[in-house]
Amino acid sequence: MLNRRLPEATARDVLSSVCWETTDSPSIATNLSRVETFPGAACLTKFAAVHAPRQISRDLQLRSKAAPLQLLSAVAPCPFPREIEAPMGPQTDYHVHTPLCRHAEGTPEEFIDAAKRAGLVEIGFADHNPMPESFDDWRMNYDELPRYFDFVAEARASGFSVRLGLECDFIPGRESWIEQLAGMAQWDYLIGSVHYLASGWDVDNPKHLFRFTEDSVESIWDRYWDLFSQCIRSRLFDFVAHPDLPKKFGHRPKGDLRRYYEPAIQALRETNVAFEINTAGLRKPAKELYPAQEFLELAAQAGIPLVINSDSHSPGEIGAGFEVAAARAKEAGYREVVRWAGRQRFAVEL
Ligand SMILES: [Zn+2]
Ligand SMILES: [Zn+2]
Repeated sequence: MLNRRLPEATARDVLSSVCWETTDSPSIATNLSRVETFPGAACLTKFAAVHAPRQISRDLQLRSKAAPLQLLSAVAPCPFPREIEAPMGPQTDYHVHTPLCRHAEGTPEEFIDAAKRAGLVEIGFADHNPMPESFDDWRMNYDELPRYFDFVAEARASGFSVRLGLECDFIPGRESWIEQLAGMAQWDYLIGSVHYLASGWDVDNPKHLFRFTEDSVESIWDRYWDLFSQCIRSRLFDFVAHPDLPKKFGHRPKGDLRRYYEPAIQALRETNVAFEINTAGLRKPAKELYPAQEFLELAAQAGIPLVINSDSHSPGEIGAGFEVAAARAKEAGYREVVRWAGRQRFAVEL
């Protein structure tokens, strides 16, 4: 496996370094001005002031009892520019949940071990985003966000390449919350997902299965795909998740389903947003990848960037179904997949 350096560190990387790393180096003081010019810095310090000081690494806490705001400028040592030694290759899994969402299991160490066993070169955690208020029973609370950062930091401490992501629910009218979240940490990528078709109705939740008999499958798909395009066009996200999620329990409208896929692919093309093959569909009653092969073919023809993910909710699911996904992607015409670092996307050969 070739080791290559990723593109030059950005101000975001610097901020990330300040937050995550404490390795001794004399150069940080000269680069703090760049840290402070990164737009996320202000939000992060604001967040730190409220939730002090958990998202600052434990080492930093030990070094100083100062408020995080001061910590950011008083922090001593940190390497700059940050060199990320990330092995190249297409074998990444960027949709991995943690126990903080209350329906996943595994320790950072178990996830990393599983990633190594699966032959991956990098994983990214992307747990369900918190909402400012108590929202549902399948996501972390807002005040648990620092624990999520701790979880990812612990995984990173293994030396394995670990990305920081978040799977964000797209809900019309709540876009400003996603914008706030985007400034709270040095994310490597944000995933946009449509789970909610209306208030209190998460379409993939089995407790709402009855709605598929009360309402027509067509009208549920109409609603979903309309929201899915809105999610893409919000331009809040680096990629969108599980494109045809409403088929989870096997509900598919009759006829050629490309009528649903085409507007979404048009939106992806116009916004330069990527999408994922999500192998969780193989493990659900739908018994096929999200999305269907016809979607993949249309997306390949349109040149939409692709990433392959497992949607793991336990270490045993890391990298699950990836051979099938890669084979289907190649059949559809894909020759590369994409990766992210600091919300910068780059392509690697499939
Ligand atoms: Zn989940
Ligand atoms: Zn999801």
